[in-house]
Amino acid sequence: MAEQSKKKVAVVTGASRGIGRAIALELASRGAAVVINYNGSEERAREVQKEIEEKGGEAEIRQWNVADYKACESALKDIVKTHGSIDILVNNAGITKDGLLMGMSEEDFDQVIDVNLKGTFNMMRFVSRQMLRQRSGRIISMASVVGIAGNAGQANYAASKAGIIGMTKSAARELASRGVTVNAVAPGFIETEMTAVLSEEVKKASAAQIPLGHFGRPEDIAKAVAFLASDDAAYITGQVIQVDGGMVI
Ligand code: NAP
Repeated sequence: MAEQSKKKVAVVTGASRGIGRAIALELASRGAAVVINYNGSEERAREVQKEIEEKGGEAEIRQWNVADYKACESALKDIVKTHGSIDILVNNAGITKDGLLMGMSEEDFDQVIDVNLKGTFNMMRFVSRQMLRQRSGRIISMASVVGIAGNAGQANYAASKAGIIGMTKSAARELASRGVTVNAVAPGFIETEMTAVLSEEVKKASAAQIPLGHFGRPEDIAKAVAFLASDDAAYITGQVIQVDGGMVI
């Protein structure tokens, strides 16, 4: 029997909307079978799946909370059982709970760290063993330029994203000998529901800080992620690629 070339299996967390949705669509268009993770937005996740399938791609939706250690473990185990491998992991799920440091509640600090940083740890923790066994794999996590430059009103978020950068560099060193690469993408301001809540005044002031003069689109991030996930990026690990219109140079 002729051996069929197996599709790459990609897991994208928080793929029900925004940047994650664009990443899922991009990876599917390049031939990956995509697992669309979501937490609360089942309908939206289904729409992304439908969009991929209508274009001839392969996708499925799976609900779990990335902040839940055990849920990440069982989701990843189940995906390996179903598909036989996990070739690409994109840690994209993220939240904001903005406020000045002085008045920030413990709960707002903890929630952002739990989803953004611990969620990324949980997923990396459980996918590493599988990728080491495979002797191949790509892990790409969503950082932010705020994790590099800081931002007033986002101490919790900036700390979570700076943490992701440190974790990415550490994991890159740990996993490189077995052909697993670990990188991060640091977006600037991107047009999604996360930035839609900003006032027109703040949007204008923010755009004025961007040399390219405007917010980016989710697709701009998806292209960088797809590159890092591709064979062309085989010799890149431990890096943070900024996709920010030149905002932080
Ligand atoms: P978004 O539109 O708010 O979407 C967030 C996504 O994360 C949703 O799909 C959401 O799924 C999922 N999510 C949230 N909490 C989750 C959890 N506990 N478990 C699983 N999934 C969860 O955000 P976005 O703008 O696309 O941002 C995506 C990533 O890029 C985030 O990590 C963000 O920090 C980063 N980023 C964004 C910008 C920007 O300007 N937009 C800039 C820099 C970095 P449900 O709706 O199903 O809960």
